[in-house]
Amino acid sequence: MTNLYGDLRPGAAADLPKPERVLAVGAHPDDAEFAAGGTLARWGRSGVTISLLVMTDGSKGSWDPSVDPAALAATRREEALRAAALLGCDDVAFFGAVDGELRATPAAVEAVARHIRQRRPDVVLTHDPWQRYQLHPDHRAAGWIVVDAVVAARDPHFFPGQLADGLTAHRPSALLLWSADEPDHWESIDSTLALKIDALLCHSSQSTTTMGDAHLGGPARAAFADRLTASAERQGEPVGLVAAESFRRLTP
Ligand SMILES: [Zn+2]
Repeated sequence: MTNLYGDLRPGAAADLPKPERVLAVGAHPDDAEFAAGGTLARWGRSGVTISLLVMTDGSKGSWDPSVDPAALAATRREEALRAAALLGCDDVAFFGAVDGELRATPAAVEAVARHIRQRRPDVVLTHDPWQRYQLHPDHRAAGWIVVDAVVAARDPHFFPGQLADGLTAHRPSALLLWSADEPDHWESIDSTLALKIDALLCHSSQSTTTMGDAHLGGPARAAFADRLTASAERQGEPVGLVAAESFRRLTP
């Protein structure tokens, strides 16, 4: 298969040509929105087929010791579905690992490789597993699982049982890793930053932990929007974009 983006735009640093299909994989129900929500929303608006895969159930995402983990997981699933709908996602899947316990096992890699071979994305987005000092084990594990799964999905001798099931090998044209220490690719999000913020606010169970009580509206919501805007401006600044999400781009 040709390396679509490498051939068309060697060295291009910003905005991939519009893909047909993309797959975003986040460790937790709100990770893809935080890191790539503006990019996904822009693609969603332009008719790109977007798949979202959430690796854990998010059941530890609360500072309240009295919260029931199963109830929290159910709530977070609903929040993820509402956020995905806002972004224009076409399908949302839940891998279902227990929050905090995701590990890069061969079984996890095989499951994500199957997901890739089924959905055949041109672009895969996920956590950068090489990010230094990433504390959260799920963020590290999700990155490794997806990177390993991309390699496995492209070569027919990995997990041949999947081929016996009628799937064929698939090589995405680009892998975009978010939270990269050394980004070399940017997607502009000035037209979709507001939608990204709205999608994040769907995750109201996370408002007190990661969003500064933004669900309460008023000044707290404004402060959250300011924080997201400043982050987008900071990420776009090196390449002269008004607002951007930055990535390390690998070519599988
Ligand atoms: Zn997370």
